[in-house]
Amino acid sequence: MDYKSSIDSIKGVGEKTAKLYHKLHIENVGDLIRYYPRDYLSYDDPISVDKASVGVRTALYLEISSYVTTEKRGRYIITTLTAADRTGSVNIVWFNSPYLRNVLKKGERYVFVGTIKKKNDRKVIEMPEYYTIDKYNRMMTVMQPVYSLTSGLTNNAVQKAIREVSSLIYGIKDPLPEKVREEYRLMKLGEALYNMHFPQNEEVLKDSVRRLAFDEFTNFLLEVRRLRTENQRLKNTHLLSEAAVLKSEAFTASLPFNLTNAQDQAIKDIINDMSSPYVMNRLIQGDVGSGKTIVAVTALYMNALSGYQGVLMVPTEVLAIQHYKDIDGLLGKFGVKTALLTGSVTAREKREIYEKLKNGEVDILIGTHAVIQEKVKFESLGLVVTDEQHRFGVRQREKLSEKGEDPHVLIMSATPIPRTLAIILYADLDISVIDELPAARKRVKNCVVDTSYRDNAYKFILKEVKSGHQAYIICPMIDSSESLDAENVIDYTDELKRYYGGTVRVEYLHGKMKDEEKSAILERFMNKEIDVLVSTTVIEVGINNQNATVMMIENAERFGLAQLHQLRGRVGRGSDESFCIFINAKETEDSVTRLRVLENSNDGFYIANEDMKQRGPGDFFGIRQSGDMLFKVADIYNHADILKKAQDCVLKYGDELSVGLDKRDIITTL
Ligand code: ADP
Ligand code: MG
Repeated sequence: MDYKSSIDSIKGVGEKTAKLYHKLHIENVGDLIRYYPRDYLSYDDPISVDKASVGVRTALYLEISSYVTTEKRGRYIITTLTAADRTGSVNIVWFNSPYLRNVLKKGERYVFVGTIKKKNDRKVIEMPEYYTIDKYNRMMTVMQPVYSLTSGLTNNAVQKAIREVSSLIYGIKDPLPEKVREEYRLMKLGEALYNMHFPQNEEVLKDSVRRLAFDEFTNFLLEVRRLRTENQRLKNTHLLSEAAVLKSEAFTASLPFNLTNAQDQAIKDIINDMSSPYVMNRLIQGDVGSGKTIVAVTALYMNALSGYQGVLMVPTEVLAIQHYKDIDGLLGKFGVKTALLTGSVTAREKREIYEKLKNGEVDILIGTHAVIQEKVKFESLGLVVTDEQHRFGVRQREKLSEKGEDPHVLIMSATPIPRTLAIILYADLDISVIDELPAARKRVKNCVVDTSYRDNAYKFILKEVKSGHQAYIICPMIDSSESLDAENVIDYTDELKRYYGGTVRVEYLHGKMKDEEKSAILERFMNKEIDVLVSTTVIEVGINNQNATVMMIENAERFGLAQLHQLRGRVGRGSDESFCIFINAKETEDSVTRLRVLENSNDGFYIANEDMKQRGPGDFFGIRQSGDMLFKVADIYNHADILKKAQDCVLKYGDELSVGLDKRDIITTL
């Protein structure tokens, strides 16, 4: 067996279980090894009931002092019991776990682990874990990994499967030479991988994360280095025509708004690049709502006028459709032909688009990853644009360029990376920064509140809806199977529909819906046929509905500040006053201070910097920002210091490390 063996070659994993793993995109042993826990639990000594404080995760060693009862309440089956020690008693509650009545018996003793709540002056624990004292004593010695699961697959089963392949993990060949490991004080790869799953303590976990983040950054920077050597000074074979530049000026002048100075400058940079003797490789970095789209559209227009095709790649279908409509609306009237290519376009339509691209009958192609498929061939591709670049890897970006003969490259990103880091991560690109918001923009009004404010928020949303506006509500989870600790889109939508009783049109959107369903919901939202859209963070990137004026974020404490800022960027895009309500469900001092940053600032760069400051460089397993650059472990905010070390390493040992990079283990490369 090796890491390429299919998952069911692991002892104890049968055909049926393998299917469950497939649902989590785990196909082979290597995938499993890299399926890192989403969290770790450490188990402390049990304490007595009188010492247990509210809001804290606690272990209590208790005797069940009542009969175990179940009853149906609303959409839940509730199982309850009372348990006590010499100092007091607590009520214990489970949802939808009726079988427990046959498991737990009056008079038995267990260690119950959960967060203490207070209800009607009684201490209550909801959905605790429970263990025999023997089992618990064994668990106290290690940190317990917590995996994202799918129904039918238990945390224990995943742990067991990983243990089965532990000798394989330890045997993995380390791609970093020993001298490099020593110089940067890095753990061995196999050790790091194993410790990601079963760390003895936090120190070891930190070192493991450090090692894996170092690898991800190093591999990334090696790619960037290769791109830079390959692309620099490529001859420009797609020169802009002077007529195109002149016409683009007329085009921007015809827009219903004036470009900001920063937008103007970015377009000038692009014109310079595309008229220079060398191919353009430019990054447009600008906060959400700074107006990057129009800059890209102008570039695509000039490129088309000069006789070349262009392509715009975006990370989601929803965004692709939106861009397609916008661009067709802006440029269609000048005779520019656009086409939309996404995963859900029918096979026939696809063939038609491929044909037209090859014949040069389409000027601008807009789409998702579908645009880098093999069958997509252009007649004369002059410009490739990627929007929300942080959602793509270097390789995807490169694949797009390979569709043409040295096309110009334009990349747009809203990730507010401090300049020092941007220079490292985008070393192969020139950078234009759009550091100015359109003047008409009103500042989004913010408030950070607790869950008791919900009712007010719903009334406020109703008021906004009545005056013709729309709202987003973000929940971290899709449905109740994911976790009962945080709001989920499905149940929330049900409850909200009931709350409004038909006066407000509420619908939901999440990442596991089919593309067609997503597009249909979004289309209705854009057409104002939906008033309130309850959604996961799938709407985070790029969605532009200027009529939406309220963004309400449930469990805001679970998101990174930079991500919350992106979410907030979905409102305040038009000229109407807009509002963002952050619901902080877990009022710890930390979460309050963190969220206050958002209340006080609308500036993405400032927020990212604050986020970094507050965590401090030691905070390795803090809340992850969005999946920037497709890193699995590394986080440009949390691991800025490691990024700098990786850069140093690539400068010193780049030649040596690049050898065989493309043949390297899937385990160690991105
Ligand atoms: P982002 O930079 O987040 O991609 P968009 O390009 O989607 O932002 O722009 C957000 C909104 O602002 C769009 O509706 C766009 O039409 C509008 N917009 C862009 N530039 C300006 C401007 N200079 N003045 C006013 N509105 C603008
Ligand atoms: Mg955008």
